[in-house]
Amino acid sequence: MTLLRLENLTASYGDSQALFGVDLQMAQGEVTALMGRNGMGKTTTVKAICRMIRSQGTLMLDSQDLHMLPSHKVARKGVGLVPEGRRCFADLTVRENLTAAARPGDWTLRRVTELFPRLGERKGQRAASLSGGEQQMLAIGRALMTNPRLLILDEATEGLAPIVRQEIWAALNRLRQETNVAILLIDKSLKELSAVSDRAVILEKGRTVWSGAMTDLTPDISEKYVGV
Ligand code: ATP
Repeated sequence: MTLLRLENLTASYGDSQALFGVDLQMAQGEVTALMGRNGMGKTTTVKAICRMIRSQGTLMLDSQDLHMLPSHKVARKGVGLVPEGRRCFADLTVRENLTAAARPGDWTLRRVTELFPRLGERKGQRAASLSGGEQQMLAIGRALMTNPRLLILDEATEGLAPIVRQEIWAALNRLRQETNVAILLIDKSLKELSAVSDRAVILEKGRTVWSGAMTDLTPDISEKYVGV
């Protein structure tokens, strides 16, 4: 069943139009890579889904028109965002960061620390004292604690050491295999994206120019639109 449906979505920053017609559909439990070169509208699409920017067109989560909701209510409807630049409460401990985000459901402190054992080891530490990779894990953990139906990760592995990136990809793989959460991923690593994603949607100049199964994304298509 379709969980998220964007059709002909448009959005602007003041007078400057950034999205010109984004089409994207996701089913429950599916991992979708949102791809495209820099500045093509990936983050703006995420902002539109989370109602952080006004948009026009179809924007549905299940049977709910997200356009009717303010951003804080989008989270309540089951959209968990890990934004670019991992936002955690620096002065709160790992445990406090996680429990502050908690909403009823399967995801609990225990389950998050089982997925990311490093967070378990650092439960009492202030978020500010964590490494970049641990802060990213905490940001993902916080989003999971909201028990989302849709988890969105915008450049979750950006700027991290290779070993930490591998831990994050492994965690995403586990989420894919062991849960029914739908995941929308933005990342620069085509190799890792291909391995974990079921589908891909490619944006160019604020428009969807290609979408399909990841297995149908041939090198000529990725070279044309993604540049790799
Ligand atoms: P990147 O990979 O660089 O993050 P992106 O695909 O996520 O790129 P967006 O950040 O969505 O692209 O940007 C889409 C367009 O909107 C670009 O032309 C960008 O310059 C513009 N844009 C993004 N943020 C703003 C803003 N706050 N104000 C004005 N224009 C913006």
